[in-house]
Amino acid sequence: MANNEELFKKIISHAKEYGYIFPSSEIYDGLSAVYDYGQYGVELKNNIKNYWWKSMVQMNENIVGIDTAIFMHPTIWKASGHVDAFNDPLIDNKDSKKRYRADVLIEDHIAKIEDKILKEIRKASERFGKDFDEEKFRATHPRVLENTEKIASIQKRFNEALNQNDLGEVKKLIEDLGIVCPVSGTKNWTDVRQFNLMFSTQMGSVSEDSGTLFLRPETAQGIFVNFLNVQKTGRMKIPFGIAQIGKAFRNEIVARQFIFRMREFEQMEMQFFVPPGEELTWFEYWKEQRMKWHLSLGISASKYRWHPHEKLAHYANAAVDIEFEFPFGFKELEGIHSRTDFDLSSHEKFSGKKLRYFDAESNESYVPYVVETSIGVDRTFLAVFSNAYTEEILADGSERTVLRLPAVLAPIKVAVLPLVKKDGMPEKARLIIDELKNDFLCQYDEKDAIGRRYRRQDAIGTPYCVTIDNETLENDTVTLRERDSMLQTRVSIENLRKEISEGLRPLRF
Ligand code: ATP
Repeated sequence: MANNEELFKKIISHAKEYGYIFPSSEIYDGLSAVYDYGQYGVELKNNIKNYWWKSMVQMNENIVGIDTAIFMHPTIWKASGHVDAFNDPLIDNKDSKKRYRADVLIEDHIAKIEDKILKEIRKASERFGKDFDEEKFRATHPRVLENTEKIASIQKRFNEALNQNDLGEVKKLIEDLGIVCPVSGTKNWTDVRQFNLMFSTQMGSVSEDSGTLFLRPETAQGIFVNFLNVQKTGRMKIPFGIAQIGKAFRNEIVARQFIFRMREFEQMEMQFFVPPGEELTWFEYWKEQRMKWHLSLGISASKYRWHPHEKLAHYANAAVDIEFEFPFGFKELEGIHSRTDFDLSSHEKFSGKKLRYFDAESNESYVPYVVETSIGVDRTFLAVFSNAYTEEILADGSERTVLRLPAVLAPIKVAVLPLVKKDGMPEKARLIIDELKNDFLCQYDEKDAIGRRYRRQDAIGTPYCVTIDNETLENDTVTLRERDSMLQTRVSIENLRKEISEGLRPLRF
């Protein structure tokens, strides 16, 4: 654990040192859980968004994208349930004065028990080698069984308490489990209270109550309220989807873990409208599609796992998370939810407008059901970035830090480097950049020895370096160096664009 914490700190400082992520308002000592993206960060972020957008809107005939406003009519948040139910249970420690999410304290406690189980499994697997049968071990080992039962009973008690909105019972559970404040080490807790996560602001004159607006806590509602506009103007036939990327705001109680949990963040959401009764089939379909998308980035499958929801949100009849193994453990990266007809029906009720689909074949009109895929841009950024960060000892004993970013997402695709700053090499390098810059984001660098320049590009994750040397001037060939393997090949300038394009092509989603 200590090692992972160490690694996470290194990742955060690497992100800052190399222009990926800065704390917001840093010269004023920062603003909690708000971050700015730097010159490379914005490129990586845009590439993630484009990669998602392409997979949804370009690759699917029946999905279109929109971009709706952050400010929306306040009744929308009544209809969506956010005014009444978008709460987190919070609890304070009276000694440290620190505030926690009660559910997170309980989840962390469960994670510790899970760690114990995993330790037993690891030990046994080392002892038995290839004969080890994990399933059997889990089903028979007394300590593992005892801990598995412990987890199940905590989860059951917690879910029941939340379902009945029994906050006294949540507090009692925290006390019964002997959970202490990580800062003060005491069990001196306040009562558990519900806290609404929406930010509010004023529109127009401040005195009128009706001027209070919320900053949207999710982008999905902008899609629901435009369902008819898009369906009619796009002549969309069910099943069809509407995708959107945009900012969302949540007044998170415990905002830590860098860009994992922010108060201002971005979501990429797609709402897929289907006939009632077909939603669970489509739910399975989108589960599979979304996992394929993640794996198309070339990140190891072992970094992802499914987490079915124990407690379904008020609008869902099925829900699952895709969790990623961040440096601080497996946590939610994306949610796939079968939202039933909750949202459209509720907007019908609150707006008084019909939000139906007329099926010309069956001559029927109905409120469609919805399957949603919802993923955070910033969490995807953190997943990709933390997975890419690698410290290596090379064959000659030297060290290098390299960001093994999926090439398709890397900010700078090609660095063009004259070996020396004379003999016409810089001019040749500029000509090559002119050739390539229409297709790839290029960077020119002539400062320092070539080895140091390679290291700089490795640290920002540039997949290709093109080096101009004496031979280039003689026969129009350059050295093409690949970031991960560090292999160098001689390529003619004529073929450069093709070679690089091939290396940048993603796997198919
Ligand atoms: P969590 O349980 O971690 O708070 P959630 O279940 O509330 O997340 P959703 O409402 O399903 O999250 O939001 C969809 C996606 O939006 C999440 O999977 C995550 O990637 C992203 N997301 C949600 N809250 C935040 C946040 N505060 N900062 C960054 N990304 C977020």
